[in-house]
Amino acid sequence: MAKATTTIKQVLNYHADHGAWFAANQDLFNRVTSFYFGVIQAHEKVLDLCNKEALTVLEKLTHTTQSNPYPVIPLSEIAEDIPAMFRRAAINAALGSARSFYSLLSKWRKRKEKSIAKGKKFHERPPVPPRSWNKSATLYVGMWKERSGSSLMLKVWTGSVWSWIRVRITAREIPNGVEMGSPALIRRGNQWWLHTPIEKQFKSPAKIEKQVTTNEQTKICSVDLNVDQHLAVCTVRTVEGSILATKFIIGGRRVNGLRKKQLGRIARNRHKTGIIVEGEQDNVDLWRKIRNTDEQVAHVVSARIVQFAKQHEASIVVFEHLGNLKPAKGKYSRRGNSKRAFWMKGRIFKYVKYKAYNAGIITSRVNPRNTSRECARCHSLVARYEEGKPAEGYAYGAPLVSCSQCGMRGNSDRNASLVIGQRLIERYQKGPKEKPPTPLVAERVEQSTGVVISQDAQSVGTRPSTGSARHGDHNEHGTAQETGMRMVAP
Ligand SMILES: [Zn+2]
Repeated sequence: MAKATTTIKQVLNYHADHGAWFAANQDLFNRVTSFYFGVIQAHEKVLDLCNKEALTVLEKLTHTTQSNPYPVIPLSEIAEDIPAMFRRAAINAALGSARSFYSLLSKWRKRKEKSIAKGKKFHERPPVPPRSWNKSATLYVGMWKERSGSSLMLKVWTGSVWSWIRVRITAREIPNGVEMGSPALIRRGNQWWLHTPIEKQFKSPAKIEKQVTTNEQTKICSVDLNVDQHLAVCTVRTVEGSILATKFIIGGRRVNGLRKKQLGRIARNRHKTGIIVEGEQDNVDLWRKIRNTDEQVAHVVSARIVQFAKQHEASIVVFEHLGNLKPAKGKYSRRGNSKRAFWMKGRIFKYVKYKAYNAGIITSRVNPRNTSRECARCHSLVARYEEGKPAEGYAYGAPLVSCSQCGMRGNSDRNASLVIGQRLIERYQKGPKEKPPTPLVAERVEQSTGVVISQDAQSVGTRPSTGSARHGDHNEHGTAQETGMRMVAP
């Protein structure tokens, strides 16, 4: 069995005053969490224990009871009458933060030792414990009750007392057949939400090899990620070779434009001030904007890829390996932009991997060598050209391809996505493989480490495809039903 987790986000409808209570509640939660982080720092050894044991030890150190009247560091100095479940949620939050902090610290120490052993200087700063706390309060059973599809009761700290209040919930209901985790009270701007993690059990999907070798009708969604206009081009095909649908996900040019503008602003600000203080982030707001845009795009694109795969019942999604980053030359904004676009591709892959897995779909990657230069029908090298220009040569990033061997013509990104799908199938096909054409440019690519839910191919001597189509007229349509066109060379 496999497990998938997701979060159900519900808007809360509450009395205007209650917003301030939620804020007071969260504030207290953070004070208690911060208190326990301090206790853990003073008793680092608790981190050697599992969470359950650590919790017992930490309560013993802090919680006043009849049998434990004088704890070493009493929590009552922070606040009186904290409900047990509130305290435990805060302890677990503090344990989580402490574990992550100490693991970073020990990694840093190892790097330092290694560096000193080699006789090198070590300038990297050590990680610092959190200076401020902004955690959302997790509500363990006992802090909420009477949950229905439309409302629930919450126990919150109002700033002066503990009080049960009823709040109405809107939007998505909790689906059936899932295991519900502890909800958390989350603030987004001025609005409070209830986030509930849910866990679903499902039958683990069969290995790709099995799916591909035992069922000719297995559907594969292959994805060509780009940095320009087409952020992603997806095609769904069967193992046997019928192409069922294509989807163009556009918007790359807009994202690039936005990002480049922000990077340009950062560059100009830096030029004006002249100095960048080491270890201090400059232009915080602009950087945040860039990060938010990238993150949002990666989420939207990955969700649409998975939705498309689901819609066409694909059970495998395949990408090409990303290859190495080759930063563009030119101004700061241009170089920075190409770097971030590259990272975004990585993030899209990562998000697709987990979103697809939650839908029972396996993700894989194939060798990226020449995916943009090979004909999807006959494997010859294609000509790549601009619209209105002769179909010859190879114009890097041009939108159209044409194969002089078999006469195939079409969109270059779509051709690349078809080639990616074929590579996956070829990997499992028996018999002597056709020798791939000599690469025009061969570069080294880092060997990717296998990821549990992604059955990666190893790749060496490869070249990433960074097609930059300038076709404006493909608006994510599913090119319908080109069945019968065998895309695998006989
Ligand atoms: Zn061809």
